[in-house]
Amino acid sequence: MNRNCKKSEQTGLVFFPAFDWRITPTHPEREERLLYTRDQIFEEGIMDLPQIREYKPRMASFKDIARTHICVPGVRDQVTEAHLISAGGALTLADALMAGEIRNGFAMIRPPGHHAMRVVHGNRGFCNINNEAILVDYLRKHYRLKKIVIVDTDVHHGDGTQDIFYHDPDVLFISFHQDGRTLFPGTGFTNEAGGPAAFGRTLNVPMPVGTTDEGIHYILDNLILPVLEEFQPDLIINSAGQDNHFSDPLANMKVTTQGYARLNEKLSPDLAVLEGGYAIETALPYLNTGIILAMAGMDYSNVVEPDYRPGMLKMSEEKMALIIELVHEVRTLWDHRNTIDLAALRAKNDFFSRQKTIFYDTDGINEQQTERLRLCPDCGGYLSIVSQAYHYHGAPQNILALSIPFNGCHECREEAYSEYEVGIDKKDYDYVYFQDRVSDTYRCYSREKDQEWEEV
Ligand SMILES: [Zn+2]
Ligand SMILES: [Zn+2]
Repeated sequence: MNRNCKKSEQTGLVFFPAFDWRITPTHPEREERLLYTRDQIFEEGIMDLPQIREYKPRMASFKDIARTHICVPGVRDQVTEAHLISAGGALTLADALMAGEIRNGFAMIRPPGHHAMRVVHGNRGFCNINNEAILVDYLRKHYRLKKIVIVDTDVHHGDGTQDIFYHDPDVLFISFHQDGRTLFPGTGFTNEAGGPAAFGRTLNVPMPVGTTDEGIHYILDNLILPVLEEFQPDLIINSAGQDNHFSDPLANMKVTTQGYARLNEKLSPDLAVLEGGYAIETALPYLNTGIILAMAGMDYSNVVEPDYRPGMLKMSEEKMALIIELVHEVRTLWDHRNTIDLAALRAKNDFFSRQKTIFYDTDGINEQQTERLRLCPDCGGYLSIVSQAYHYHGAPQNILALSIPFNGCHECREEAYSEYEVGIDKKDYDYVYFQDRVSDTYRCYSREKDQEWEEV
């Protein structure tokens, strides 16, 4: 074994199991989730390998979170220390990667994040804040990266990540997941393909129940890898959920450890961030080990879960034919990504709007949202979001949020700011937010307190 591995050739690892954070004692997203993974990694001596460099996670700042999310009422109300360290773990590896200390990195962190949308009223799908989205915005703010890809390989649709980048042509979001008609969160169909300014930059493949390694590798080889080749991203992030595994108790897929490790090897992400995976004893330790070895360029062929028998996992020809059809459909969509006539759309409308109904399964909140995107000829356009959250108890919360993209133009900023001021004066909203990525300032106003503050 090469004991003189150059630092810049190492794989960075952050391990943050959050042993003090859980949803409830019996919930699948509980403290023990990474316990067996920890034992496996230490038993195999992975942290001592010359190819591996371990990093201690730092905390993300409140501003790192406010750059991505509109947390209601404020960031401090939506996060615990565990959330700050989990998100911070991904940022720690981003800094190491950008400093040239490592060639790639895997943040094995929890709590997870990919169901957290831009506006956050509570926890949904075990997530309050979106670790990958915070990471993307951090990389864009601090390292001026432009084109970033997030490939979400969790069995659940990454609806939060999709929501956050739906109008952003520079962030390509690709998710394959179990069909939303059979699994939470019930979204992620092929027609969810991005807003008019970012059409085709959201790609979804809803896979049939029982999809195997063969199925996911067909999607990878015939859709994801060719699309990445054309998109030419500055950076690839893998939202690395591992609940497509055949023994996962929350879903119905047939993917193996070898299937996941090979996926990682081919995709070759710069940064991988752990999402789901709930077969905590029978699969997760092997899946994580396989991914670490693949990222470090090492042989992973011996990492096999104990209850796997060759030949036990097959999918029908009909299901495979469905996957081939889906890949063709999504590939066609990608090929037509530049066919939207934005100029014609702008000539007719100043804004594009969409209505959303969002259910927070963990916290029992129903949210109604109207999101308006300014169709601006000079920048990505600002977002104006009106959201009302109905909690089981208490009065509904009504908020207005204005959000400026990184490339926000002068006119969008002025117009959004005046909407913010009018929103405060009107007294219709419990909270009003101004999220300005250009100046990196995040303001909030509380009507009850008649007070404005800044997230720092
Ligand atoms: Zn999941
Ligand atoms: Zn603009």
